[in-house]
Amino acid sequence: MIIDFHTHPEFKSLNELYSPEEFIAGMDKGGVDISCLFGNDQADPGDCPKWRDSRFMAVPTNFSDEQLSAFCNHFPTRLIGFTSINPNRYQPERKVERAIKEFGMKAVKLYPHSGFYPNDPRLSLTYKFCQEMGIPVVIHTGPKAVRWQWMKYNQPIYVDDVATNFPDLRIVMCHGGYPWTEEFITVAYTNPNIWVDLTFMEVIEETYLLPGLVENTVKRLNKLIGAKRLLWGTEGPYMNLPLYGVHDPSYYEISQQKLVKRFDFFSEEDKQDILGNNAARLLGIH
Ligand SMILES: [Zn+2]
Repeated sequence: MIIDFHTHPEFKSLNELYSPEEFIAGMDKGGVDISCLFGNDQADPGDCPKWRDSRFMAVPTNFSDEQLSAFCNHFPTRLIGFTSINPNRYQPERKVERAIKEFGMKAVKLYPHSGFYPNDPRLSLTYKFCQEMGIPVVIHTGPKAVRWQWMKYNQPIYVDDVATNFPDLRIVMCHGGYPWTEEFITVAYTNPNIWVDLTFMEVIEETYLLPGLVENTVKRLNKLIGAKRLLWGTEGPYMNLPLYGVHDPSYYEISQQKLVKRFDFFSEEDKQDILGNNAARLLGIH
């Protein structure tokens, strides 16, 4: 089973998203069975300003859980929603509880670069709830996605606080943490409750002119934490970020090659695990 662990709904034009049908058509072209679709709460007051979404970022921000679950419910066995929260809103834990219990979402996504540290005390009740319910918390690390965010919050060291204080919370750290790659690897190795999402590391390697970044990091992660805690993802069939470029559904295969398939230090079973089986186990998909 191929699971793209890391995608977002995307804008097709100024005010129109790619429809669920178009999203599925992209997945079908790439041979992807299931996509995890992330909400994106940037804590803008009210609706997200249009200039943020449409001109500088293709991903809809402040996309409500109602909207995201309605999107996923067109293909409930193939599109899985992850809610997103931001401690700059009141009582984020209530949003999470509703997303999980009412809308059947399977995980929580955090975007620290929108203005908070992952170890923010206002997130403690959320972490406690997720720990008790077995809900994974997925945390962006590394470079910011767009210019109006703040990169300092994306440092992996702050995830170590969360992993230590909530030892049974299942955490996924995304993107390899560049330029704090060493910190990222160390935090992942010393906390057995952390999984690693490899998504976008190949784009970071190319954007910042770092030949060998993916191979070196993935090889070490494989030795240090093992293939069972690695996850593959793509940012989706229609990623469109001014700083990083544009993708189309042919990118599914390219990204599988660049992040997983080309490495002979992975067994066939490892590759199947990273491309979907690990995500299935983490999310309880059978
Ligand atoms: Zn993403």
